[in-house]
Amino acid sequence: MALAAATGPHQLVVQTSFLGDTVLTTPLIAELAKRGPVSVVVTPASAPLLARNPDIHQLFVYDKRGADAGLLGFRRLALRIRAPEPREGAPPAIAYLAQRSARSGALALAAGYTQRVGFEGSAGQTLYSKRVRYREDRHHAERLWRLAFPEMDTSAPLLMAGAPSPKLFPGDAERAAVNALLGEENDPRPLIALAPGSVWATKRWPYYAQLARALAPRFRIAIIGGAADRSEAASIANFSGAQGVVDGTASLSLLASAELIRRAQLLVTNDSAPQHLASATGTPTVTIFGPTVEEFGFGPLAPHSISLGLDALACRPCHHHGPPHCPLGHWRCMRELGLDAVALAVDEVLDAC
Ligand code: SF4
Repeated sequence: MALAAATGPHQLVVQTSFLGDTVLTTPLIAELAKRGPVSVVVTPASAPLLARNPDIHQLFVYDKRGADAGLLGFRRLALRIRAPEPREGAPPAIAYLAQRSARSGALALAAGYTQRVGFEGSAGQTLYSKRVRYREDRHHAERLWRLAFPEMDTSAPLLMAGAPSPKLFPGDAERAAVNALLGEENDPRPLIALAPGSVWATKRWPYYAQLARALAPRFRIAIIGGAADRSEAASIANFSGAQGVVDGTASLSLLASAELIRRAQLLVTNDSAPQHLASATGTPTVTIFGPTVEEFGFGPLAPHSISLGLDALACRPCHHHGPPHCPLGHWRCMRELGLDAVALAVDEVLDAC
């Protein structure tokens, strides 16, 4: 990692939540880097997303469910991320707890950070020296960025426009992987990326194959996702029956997927990590919400993006992340959000760009 500002307070950001949360933490990291060096603690899955981020002084991986599980792993990490010894006249080291767990607060305490900033109402809030209001009415990137300003009037209107945007830094390897996937042929059709996956089964819109078939005559289609999405990606590519539908789920890393999204005219995705990759690359997005809603604060940030969901369905939202199964058994929030609505949104976004 490149060195950020070498002077100023030593700062630690703990973010061991989901991939999308890590992307949405990059504006906070960028803000803090203006003041002094920033160390960041993330999960093994999220760490590659922060490669080459020039705002990060040191990146620490916390494998809390694997190699670092239990008290021994916790103590080992606390030693590795230990705050520098206080020096006379030097500003105190500050930890920013970007998730709301008691464990991250305890980690900062054990690592010797006397200043600990986190969200009001968090499980670990008694361990914080400063609490920042968790604004339900704001985008999560803005909520996280707001941690950098614990003294700010909590009732002040905050606008994402005042915050830096999420940023990722794909490099040569990611560009080469995307080049290899897309090939060198000179296809004049605009590229559309589809991200059919989600950790949560009820958040996976079931009509991506039909969408790919409908779009394929006019667009190049690239499917992105992780290992868990490979069989679905293969079905989508087969069902579309078209030349030029490429499947990147086996060959693209997270950052390479971000690079592909950057090159795409548009991304169609569920309410999952790829929409945050698109926010970081500025790619317009059609996001499909089923059991969750954009008002939770995790919608797309790129200009011209559209969020879709069945607003009239009384059972929405039913879960903060998306339940593994529909508790009512009918899964209407996704089944009844048909192909036509999404295809129309695709055209709307492309017309607006
Ligand atoms: S209860 Fe409603 S919102 Fe939740 S999964 Fe079922 S249909 Fe979707």
